[in-house]
Amino acid sequence: MSDPPVYPGSTGINQALAALADGRLVAIPTETVYGLAADAASPDAVARIYAAKGRPAFNPLITHVADAAMAAAEGRLDERARALAKAFWPGPLTLVVPARERGKSCELARAGLETIGLRVPGHPLTRELLERFGGPLAAPSANPSGRLSPTTAADVAQAFGDEVALVVDGGPCEAGIESAIVSVLPEDPPRLLRPGAIGRSALEAVIGELAGRGSADINAPGQLSSHYAPAAALRLNATASRPGEVLLGFGPAAPPGPNLSPSGDTTEAAANLYRMLRKLDEQGAGTIAVMPVPDEGLGEAINDRLRRAAAPRESAVS
Ligand code: AMP
Ligand code: MG
Repeated sequence: MSDPPVYPGSTGINQALAALADGRLVAIPTETVYGLAADAASPDAVARIYAAKGRPAFNPLITHVADAAMAAAEGRLDERARALAKAFWPGPLTLVVPARERGKSCELARAGLETIGLRVPGHPLTRELLERFGGPLAAPSANPSGRLSPTTAADVAQAFGDEVALVVDGGPCEAGIESAIVSVLPEDPPRLLRPGAIGRSALEAVIGELAGRGSADINAPGQLSSHYAPAAALRLNATASRPGEVLLGFGPAAPPGPNLSPSGDTTEAAANLYRMLRKLDEQGAGTIAVMPVPDEGLGEAINDRLRRAAAPRESAVS
């Protein structure tokens, strides 16, 4: 099984359009992490995503659209959802809204739910791909189930074989951490289902206070306790490394060595998170001891991913 080919720029887009039309999978760059995309209208193509990732169960995928108009054809965005879309699209915000019966995105893409997760990604290559494709693309992160999300084209190419037609190379991901997921459903307060690449305070400045997940919310991956895991074990809130551990630092007080952000900036730390965990994994670290990251800015999302990566692995799903 050989690695899928990697194509940059417009070659990548042209090849991707042909592959998607054939019902095949393509890996695409976004500003968050690389996605594994299929024609959201085709249940066969969407099923290939679950198979390629080795997802043990059908869990809802984020449906990527070119713009707010395409989003409105797939889901019902009320005034609150439209305000969030206007403020943050294109960008790393996924809105969970009621699905439209006549939307193009198939039921399997939303795992049979009556709600749909929608996002207009900010990466220029993927926006051009969506515009030229003319329909929604279902795309979860392009990692095998339970593993670290990929932030470069090479990460994706190494992880998959010919079940992925090609990787469109759009450079390293800018945000490096997944989208924030907010549900905006009728007769329900807006809820932060997953902290992500837009901090809570920026979201709340537009929509007011966000509720947490409700009892009716699904247990989707990314919302499970063990997720986003490197092969190494993780020890959190470490102040120094113990024998056999490598320390992943944060901030100016950290000893020399790998550091998520030497200046203590959570946006920079988010961009470095998966890349650094992956590198320490490749170097064969047994345990990665991670220094505390404050909950400010993107720190809430970083700490969410670190807790899941440190959790016991039995229930790992992606
Ligand atoms: P990702 O791997 O970042 O694309 O993760 C996709 C995540 O989006 C899933 O794990 C869910 O947490 C979330 N999601 C997508 N659609 C829905 C939905 N209809 N309801 C709730 N969460 C959703
Ligand atoms: Mg994922």
